Order: sequence, then C-alpha cells, then structure tokens
Amino acid sequence: MSVLMIGIDGMSKQHFERSMPKTRNFLLEKMGAIELYKYNKLANVLALLTGHTPEEFYKGWHYNRTGYVDQINEAFLFTARITHDDSDLAYRGDEAYHKFLQDLVATDSLDNTVIVWFSDHGPRFGAIRETYHGRIETSAPYIFFVFPPWFKRTYPQLISTLKINQNRLSSHFAVYETIRDLLYL
Ligand SMILES: [Zn+2]
Repeated sequence: MSVLMIGIDGMSKQHFERSMPKTRNFLLEKMGAIELYKYNKLANVLALLTGHTPEEFYKGWHYNRTGYVDQINEAFLFTARITHDDSDLAYRGDEAYHKFLQDLVATDSLDNTVIVWFSDHGPRFGAIRETYHGRIETSAPYIFFVFPPWFKRTYPQLISTLKINQNRLSSHFAVYETIRDLLYL
C-alpha cells in the first residue's frame, strides 16, 4: 500500500467544517472518507510522522530515526501558508482543495493508495484564542482516512475496527501506528 498524507497546519476540526464545506463534503460523500471524531492534539506533527515526542525524536536523531518518512511509498504534503497568518484565508482554500481532490479522483491513480487527510492542531494565536471555544479548538485537529474500494472489501475487519475507533479518543501516536501497519500490508 501507499499512503498519501495531506495536512493543513493549525486548522481545527471545527474550522475545517466551517471554512471548507465543499472539500469536507467531497471527502465524506464522494470519497467515502472515515473521520475520527475524537482526534486530539498530543505532542505535535512529528509524532504523527515518527511515533515519537519531539524530545524523544531530537534526542535520538542520530541513531534512531525510524519514522516512516523514510519509506519510499509514503508521500507527505503539509501546508502551513493557508492557515498560518490568518485562518480566514482558509475559506478561500476550500475551492482549491476541492478541485485538488476532484483531480486526484479523476486521475484514477489512487487504486493502491490510502489518503490520510489531517491537521495537527487548531489555532495557536489570533482573536479566537481569547475565547473558551477557541482554546478547545486548539486541541482538536481533524483526521480522515480514504481507502480504495477493494481495500474495504478485502479488509472488512480493519474497517470495522477503525469505525469503532471513530468515537474513541485518538492521537498522532495512534495514527502513526495505524499508518505503519498500512504500509506493511
Ligand atoms: Zn502545527
């Protein structure tokens, strides 16, 4: 299997829903994405890529860099520009991401690929952080998995486990392990 990871830095689950409805609906309705509803920020995006906290990761940099970033069949796209300075820009990104996903589906090149559509955390600065709701959003990134249809048929057990986990607390660490398993299928 190949894994294609597409992430947006600093966008909460709630803000993704507010600002990118076209993209979100396309993922859910046209691509059959499975969302983990209780994805929670723990450590940072390094944990998602390496399974380690930043402290562990940098300490072991020289001899223990075992993350799947090294894997040849994993691609990683992570965008910060769109959300970094002003999260209202995200509204404009909806059109672009929607088009990107439409093109991805149209090329028919995803037959052996799992798409992981994610963010790492919510807003870390700006006016929204002054509110209670904003502080909650900071800890609420989003994550969706899109599997090829044959995969769902071949591994129904995996899919139903994932669906059970939809309503359980999950983190970058848990998803790291999941992605590792997928790469070795
Ligand atoms: Zn970040």
